[in-house]
Amino acid sequence: MNKQLIQKLNRRSFLASSLRAALFGAFAINSSAFAQSTPWRNWSGGLNFQPQGRFDITEEEQLIELLKSTTGAIRPVGSGHSFSPLIPTDGHLVVIDQLNGILDYDNDSMQATFGAGSRLGDLGAPLYEIGQGMMNLPDIDRQTVAGATATGTHGTGVEFNSLSGYITGLRLVTPNGEIRDIDASDGDLFDAARVNVGALGVVTQVRMQNRSAYKLKKREWTAPTEDILSRFDELAANHRHFEIFPLVYSDYSLVLQIDESDEPIGQTIIPAEETTLADLRPLGVDATPAEKLAMNNALAERAEVSEAVDLSYKLLSNIRVNPFNEMEYSVPAEVGADCVREVLKTIYDEAIEVDFPLEYRYVKPESPWLSMAYGDEPHATISIHRNASQDYRPYFDRIEPIFWKYGGRPHWGKIHSLGFSELERLYPRYRDFVEVRESLDPSGRMLNDHLKKLFIA
Ligand SMILES: Cc1cc2nc3c(=O)[nH]c(=O)nc-3n(C[C@H](O)[C@H](O)[C@H](O)COP(=O)(O)OP(=O)(O)OC[C@H]3O[C@@H](n4cnc5c(N)ncnc54)[C@H](O)[C@@H]3O)c2cc1C
Repeated sequence: MNKQLIQKLNRRSFLASSLRAALFGAFAINSSAFAQSTPWRNWSGGLNFQPQGRFDITEEEQLIELLKSTTGAIRPVGSGHSFSPLIPTDGHLVVIDQLNGILDYDNDSMQATFGAGSRLGDLGAPLYEIGQGMMNLPDIDRQTVAGATATGTHGTGVEFNSLSGYITGLRLVTPNGEIRDIDASDGDLFDAARVNVGALGVVTQVRMQNRSAYKLKKREWTAPTEDILSRFDELAANHRHFEIFPLVYSDYSLVLQIDESDEPIGQTIIPAEETTLADLRPLGVDATPAEKLAMNNALAERAEVSEAVDLSYKLLSNIRVNPFNEMEYSVPAEVGADCVREVLKTIYDEAIEVDFPLEYRYVKPESPWLSMAYGDEPHATISIHRNASQDYRPYFDRIEPIFWKYGGRPHWGKIHSLGFSELERLYPRYRDFVEVRESLDPSGRMLNDHLKKLFIA
């Protein structure tokens, strides 16, 4: 069967199911007789729910038809790698992972347009083939382009924006089914849409600023946390990417430094970073903080330096196989080190039961209104994690007020407890975003309980 015929059939069966929905429900999309779905869960397993159904979009026209012909609650979903309850809904999921791949590119401007359902990690090799590379990547690359940019996902590097900061254009299908092609000429709408928390409509295409394909050299080692924190600005300025994973109950951090390189690929066998981190986590569960400190320091002192050279997209992200839950806040970079120190000290002084390290990175100032790095000054991001099998609440509840004390802004895709009144004080253009949201979705069909808490005064 040729591709056109398959597309036609897909479209026809989609329209037929839309019609069924219209016949069965007062609100078409709310009909329980339509498109029953399997239960949904996020990557960590911390979020589970049963949507009424899911729409698997194979063409943009289907999405437009769906949004025009229905009125019920919907939530667009990426690859489910957010920890915060952005997705759970009484209504339907909209899944666009079949809208993927490189749709267009231009090697003069070094830009490429992606189907918004593309996984970041699936774009590296085809981009390399056309001579381009993404500017930066987050810690993992299993997120979709739409999902990652919706939450302002970032990597590390004081000279590097979040992924949203590299968007030069995007296509938004509004909640009532209109296409809006948005770029910098749209001013406020562009700044609202680049970090949209999945609240403005469904993004189907994203154009991004890339650069010529490149290689990187990654170096990992352990070093005293205080030594690195006291020189962090200088180290971050001297390396393309620089970050640390401060170990809890330890005076040491795992340090990651990445720079551009012309050296041959794959010279050193690099131990999986996750294994290194696991090795360095505290041993004895029943040990006192002082005993853990002694053990962890001894272990960290013996850790080896590792190095690798490879194509950029192979070195910027990692593979995380042990599920965890995470909270991440950004604070102005000038107070970042103090905030990390206070978190580490609190864990030690209060003997909080946790073995996951923190993560400490820098992000360049940028203009998307809901970016954690919005404004004129670089931001440091600080993450805390807990194994998915453990209750994260006692730990996260204790540490979150420390982030607030330093003016912290939460990552939209990670766990936090803030609502409208706190958020509007942290993001100078928050009310402007809320106005854009109200104008695009006056009936609130894209709001689930969590988004209502974020965006309704
Ligand atoms: C192991 C791990 C490591 C991580 N590392 C990092 C990191 O280094 N840096 C960082 O900043 N974050 C990191 N994250 C967080 C992650 O990048 C974000 O939560 C991201 O949003 C997940 O993308 P996703 O495709 O899974 O989207 P989902 O989690 O499925 O959805 C996220 C948001 O995007 C919206 N959305 C999805 N598709 C669309 C669409 N087509 N149109 C409009 N809105 C849409 C959803 O409605 C939702 O609001 C990590 C998460 C995990 C699990």
